[in-house]
Amino acid sequence: MRSKTIRAPDTVMLTFLLLITLAVTVISGWSLWQSWQHNVEETERQARNQSISLARQAEDTFLQVQLTLDEMSRRADDIFANPAAWRGIRGLLAQQQRQLPQLHGLFVYDTQGDWLATSSSYVPAQANNADRDYFTWHSQHNDDRLHIGRVIRSRSTGDLVIPVSVRLNNNEGRFRGVALATIRVDYFRQFYGYYEMGPTDTLGLTLADSTVLYVRPFSDAFINKTLASSPLFTRMLKISPVGGGTWRSALDGVTRIFGYASLARYPLVVSAGYDRSSLRAVWWRNNLPVLALNGVLLCAVFVFGILVLRQIRASLRYQRELIVLRDELTRSNHILQDLALVDGLTGLGNRRQFDIYLEQCVARSTKTGVPVSLILCDIDFFKAYNDTLGHVAGDQCLAAVGEILRYLPLRNTDRVSRYGGEEFAIILPGASEYAAEQVALRAVMAVRNAALPHPATQLATKFLTISAGVGTVAGESASVATLKNMADEALYQAKHAGRDCIATQSGRCDLPPSPLEA
Ligand code: GH3
Ligand code: MG
Ligand code: MG
Repeated sequence: MRSKTIRAPDTVMLTFLLLITLAVTVISGWSLWQSWQHNVEETERQARNQSISLARQAEDTFLQVQLTLDEMSRRADDIFANPAAWRGIRGLLAQQQRQLPQLHGLFVYDTQGDWLATSSSYVPAQANNADRDYFTWHSQHNDDRLHIGRVIRSRSTGDLVIPVSVRLNNNEGRFRGVALATIRVDYFRQFYGYYEMGPTDTLGLTLADSTVLYVRPFSDAFINKTLASSPLFTRMLKISPVGGGTWRSALDGVTRIFGYASLARYPLVVSAGYDRSSLRAVWWRNNLPVLALNGVLLCAVFVFGILVLRQIRASLRYQRELIVLRDELTRSNHILQDLALVDGLTGLGNRRQFDIYLEQCVARSTKTGVPVSLILCDIDFFKAYNDTLGHVAGDQCLAAVGEILRYLPLRNTDRVSRYGGEEFAIILPGASEYAAEQVALRAVMAVRNAALPHPATQLATKFLTISAGVGTVAGESASVATLKNMADEALYQAKHAGRDCIATQSGRCDLPPSPLEA
């Protein structure tokens, strides 16, 4: 029971420490996770906004080109009637081309794909573009909408260009040729280069069918690759024309946080992607000091807790030792107390105990009026016993008489003590003179019945005997001295009457029948 109560603060402290450690770890982990999630959300928002503004830029770029092609379409009759005025660096096409920085060149082809007019100064020999995809498409589709094709290498300059074209019809609505504007891929390369981004972050322009027109920072080898397997085309664009998310890039397998936007007018998609692992590395770098500080604080709390715990353990150990010491002292005190109140030879209460108890009993009697009796017993002819059998035998005899008196049938409150020498006393609180007399008779009889040999006694039986004197007091007049005197006088009477008998204060002597007489 005691060890349980001592252990409790130890366990409480340890549990508290573990809880604190757990709480700090969980809270730190949770706030770190929140911070990272916030970072991802912010990056995705940034990528989405960037995509929207790049989509607007692409839309403007293509709209300007469309307006130029519309103008060429309107003036097709003039171009076909007087192509010389339109071609060459001084021609009308070159004038138009110079107005738009994104334009690489303007071209008009006839029904056969032959070059009718171009803004370029250089025309390849037997130039014919009937093999180009856009030419085939226009010749087969009577559709006046703008056609944006895959990136091709210019036959006039060798540059990578995006072909933007419209079909030209004659007055009967028949195919007459194609008006083509080529947009330099370098225009987007330069524009996307303005953005400050990490070396593995991407900005891309793709056709709606997932063909790459340009993606920074990848090499030109990635141009015209298909991104059909990318979640952007398999999932995201089907949900919303503008959005964001995190997925593995179909181009290099790197996981990025993407934002995307498809153009409203043209079948084009712009996307911005931020390398998640580089973003995480930066985030770790920024959060590491706080994390380290948290760790140090946690360690400090833990170390402090351990020190306090050790202190508590030490003080509990001292407390336990003190309790053991206290118990030992208490035990020793009890032993000492017992020794101080017990007679060493007979094991009965000694004179000191007798005095204390008699004092208490008489005091109670003066208060309550209840009588208290005292029997003084004295071994008969004990001097002669000693003289004959020696003091060692005398001591043994005293111990034997003590043992007989100890086992007299008495009440709990009655107390047998060694009064001194070969005299014993029995205090009987609440006992009347008559009751005390009966006890005295039993005492004398008990010694007699023990039949301890006494070769030197003057009595005929030659057995050890005792004489007893009974005194009784009660009420306010009762005092210890009176009671002792009464018992002493009665004892004297008993001796005088011949011993081996009892006497009371009234001088009456009772002589129990001797075994010889019986
Ligand atoms: P009476 O019948 O009149 O009482 O005679 P008595 O010889 O018993 O009385 P007395 O007072 O003359 O002698 C008491 C003797 O008790 C004296 C002493 O030697 C002996 N005595 C007292 N205390 C002890 C003790 O502790 N041990 C032993 N062996 N003897 C003791
Ligand atoms: Mg005596
Ligand atoms: Mg005696």
